[in-house]
Amino acid sequence: MSIGQAASAAHHSVAVIGAGQAGLSISWYLARSGIEHVVLEKHRAGHAWRAERWDSFCLVTPNWQCQLPGFPYQGADLQGFMLRDEIIDYFDAFVASFNPPLREGVTVRSLRADQHGFVLDATDGVHVADQVVIATGGYQIPIIPRCAERLPGDILQIHSCWWSAAANPAARSRKTCISAAARFTSASVMRRGCHGAIAARMSSNGCI
Ligand SMILES: Cc1cc2nc3c(=O)[nH]c(=O)nc-3n(C[C@H](O)[C@H](O)[C@H](O)COP(=O)(O)OP(=O)(O)OC[C@H]3O[C@@H](n4cnc5c(N)ncnc54)[C@H](O)[C@@H]3O)c2cc1C
Repeated sequence: MSIGQAASAAHHSVAVIGAGQAGLSISWYLARSGIEHVVLEKHRAGHAWRAERWDSFCLVTPNWQCQLPGFPYQGADLQGFMLRDEIIDYFDAFVASFNPPLREGVTVRSLRADQHGFVLDATDGVHVADQVVIATGGYQIPIIPRCAERLPGDILQIHSCWWSAAANPAARSRKTCISAAARFTSASVMRRGCHGAIAARMSSNGCI
């Protein structure tokens, strides 16, 4: 970082990258401890739940397990399972409950360390932080096996997700695909996909 950049960069005790439940939970604890920080989010808080789940999505984890910090599930149906819009409402209410120092629509393009601390090159400028929490989610890059290239063109191929088949049979009938496939899921798809076309069909059925 140049001297000019160092002078103009925003300096934070902690920069949190990503405003999913992990990043915002960290923010809640930082706020409770009075630690100055910023949360940089590429889209909107809760983006994965808001934009990367299908319309009829339903949690596989029961409501009593929904324990965002300081904000446990407050409804009457403890043994029930929230639907997508209920999850978003719950998430939004959590955010509103503590007003985190959130900057939405800001993508962190690179992160490196220098003599000033951690330097984050983001779309709203340069940030410098003493500590950085990377909470960008675990399901970003699907692993597509090379053998997928050899499958006939009439087979629909999508990167899949192990949650969906068990969690939400209704979702299987929808002709949609989850954009956020689990890396670990994709690995299992890779193994199945390599057995050929029928296996590939099965793996896509798990997702649509
Ligand atoms: C299909 C499916 C079903 C699931 N079902 C359940 C369930 O029933 N129960 C359950 O507990 N969990 C479930 N999960 C898991 C749950 O969704 C994840 O564990 C959770 O979303 C992870 O939260 P996170 O904050 O780590 O990441 P995310 O929610 O992915 O948040 C990461 C955030 O980082 C942002 N970001 C990424 N890169 C950058 C960048 N460079 N700069 C700035 N911001 C960035 C993203 O926009 C995003 O908002 C499911 C997951 C999937 C895929």
